[in-house]
Amino acid sequence: MQTKNEANRRLFLKWANLVGLAACFPVAIESGLTQTPVTDAVHPGGSSQSKQFRSPETILLKNYRPKSIYKIPITEIDKAKYPIIDMHSHPYPKTAQQIDEWIKNMDEVGVQKTVILTMATGTEFDDVYRKYSKYPDRFEVWCGLGLSGYDKPGFGPAAVKELERCRQVGARGVGEIHDKGEGLRSGKSKAPGMHPDDPRMDALWERCGELGMPVSLHVADPIWMYQKMDNTNDGLMNAYQWRLDNKPNIVSLPGMIDIFDHTLARHRNTTFIACHFANLDYDLTRLGEMFERNPNLYADISARYAETAPIPRFAAKFYEKYADRLVYGTDMGFDKPMYRVTFRILESFDEHFYETEQFNYHWSLNGFGLSGDTLKKVYHGNAARLLAARPDHAG
Ligand SMILES: [Zn+2]
Repeated sequence: MQTKNEANRRLFLKWANLVGLAACFPVAIESGLTQTPVTDAVHPGGSSQSKQFRSPETILLKNYRPKSIYKIPITEIDKAKYPIIDMHSHPYPKTAQQIDEWIKNMDEVGVQKTVILTMATGTEFDDVYRKYSKYPDRFEVWCGLGLSGYDKPGFGPAAVKELERCRQVGARGVGEIHDKGEGLRSGKSKAPGMHPDDPRMDALWERCGELGMPVSLHVADPIWMYQKMDNTNDGLMNAYQWRLDNKPNIVSLPGMIDIFDHTLARHRNTTFIACHFANLDYDLTRLGEMFERNPNLYADISARYAETAPIPRFAAKFYEKYADRLVYGTDMGFDKPMYRVTFRILESFDEHFYETEQFNYHWSLNGFGLSGDTLKKVYHGNAARLLAARPDHAG
């Protein structure tokens, strides 16, 4: 059972709230126990304290909180085995005091540097940049792209100009830019129907390359969100909240991967970091093929720990094979238990453990037991190489 500090509780409440909107799918009970009332069933609304009698017939999937029965070792990793560069985070803290707290947490868990993806331009970017400027060695603050005016003449030059200005302020990379199938988005700035391989984006991507600014690009979303929201949906608990199956006019996940592939081929001098394994966590072979084809592609592993931990042997093989192309990321706040779960999954050989409050899936997780060499590269080496490759001054 993980420690529930305040931040974690907040995260859990946030999730509980989200899941509260989810459909009610009773857990299938096949045995003859269905007529027997049980005690200590989880009460709808999240309280596991309830001693109410409740039939297994009425337990909802969203309230399912199984506990492992196995008497096997539990690995507690307070600090990562090697220093970390976190390539995917956001400006969660709003006050100077919270930023100090984040630094303390980073020190305790072994995170040397965090890349903050603001998605912002203009004064919004400048404000965030200023907030984090107290720790120039610990945080990198990346900018977004100004996409408004994408449908008007003069869009390219104007957006490039703002990119150059952000670079001048101190942005050394770009992100997180999203396209979940509806078109590009950078924070509040949206370009419906314009995808990354659109010729209108050429000038921007090319300039990112010239300025030595890597681009953190989030394409599509996990596969379950496109699938039917029924009792066969493997990731239902989260899929329902972020569902895309009810948006018939968006580009499909495979369609977005094709678009991403074209973008990578079209802009060879620009480095792209695919957020969350490019949402190919369900088909890592496909991501491997993309790595083979595209030397300008990296992928971050952020926020897909629970999605890869059910397949520990396959995932570990993938990590070992593409150890030079994967970078560590979190994307899940800044509390210590969050970091420590990621260490347990990457470093340990633990099996069948639940982290429902962190990830909100009903399934159990397993550690990958990655080798020291691979951990070093994923935690630090690849990101350090990528960041060091940037010119200090770019024309
Ligand atoms: Zn993110």
